[in-house]
Amino acid sequence: MNRLCLILFGSPGSGKGTQAKLLKEDLGVAHISTGDMLRERVALGDPLGKRVEKVMAAGGLVSDDSVNRMVADRITFDDCRTGFMLDGYPRTVSQAEWLAKKLTAVKMRPMVVHLEVDYNVIVRRISGRRQCPVCGTLYNLAADPDRVACDMEGAKLEIRDDDREDVVRERLLAYNRQTAPVLAFFQEAGYPVWSVKGSGEPEAIAGEIEDLIRKERERAA
Ligand code: AMP
Repeated sequence: MNRLCLILFGSPGSGKGTQAKLLKEDLGVAHISTGDMLRERVALGDPLGKRVEKVMAAGGLVSDDSVNRMVADRITFDDCRTGFMLDGYPRTVSQAEWLAKKLTAVKMRPMVVHLEVDYNVIVRRISGRRQCPVCGTLYNLAADPDRVACDMEGAKLEIRDDDREDVVRERLLAYNRQTAPVLAFFQEAGYPVWSVKGSGEPEAIAGEIEDLIRKERERAA
């Protein structure tokens, strides 16, 4: 079977990370989150981490060149040999063009799933989001109102710096200005692009995405 490249597309808080975690086991492919990778580099304090810290804290986008290079390296890892899911990447038309070229060179064809969620739901989800400072697991107070600590680490949960209200507004603006046009790029380039309602039960949404992938693979076979 061809290597899978699934692009999980949607605004911050649309559930891309949740879907990636659910789909990872069933599809047997790697989960690549550029946001997680960048946060790791900031925590490490390496040169890239130091360069991107301010722009991330303000809700802006890191340079295309830095993220493209990070992704180019990541997709050569062993866990990507059956394929990978991209979460939070590409986020600009220039990143999308770069990725399309890179994939064409290795005879891979991306599929795009757009998780559509209402603006008000997004704001509610992000403002209820809490993270374990030790292992990074995300929880949501909307689904779990009494939660204060992480199940795995027992650590007190925190609000991620870029989930604060003013930063969330900036991230949503960056999405509308720079990221939303990426969808049109993939549509116009003739890649499969599907819209899935992202406000239902996560397991049902994952099932719907798996059906779409199966149908596309049958069609392309
Ligand atoms: P996320 O966790 O995907 O919402 O990403 C958190 C932050 O990391 C974003 O607000 C950006 O500052 C940065 N970031 C993540 N992915 C990208 C990307 N593909 N291009 C530029 N910046 C990114």
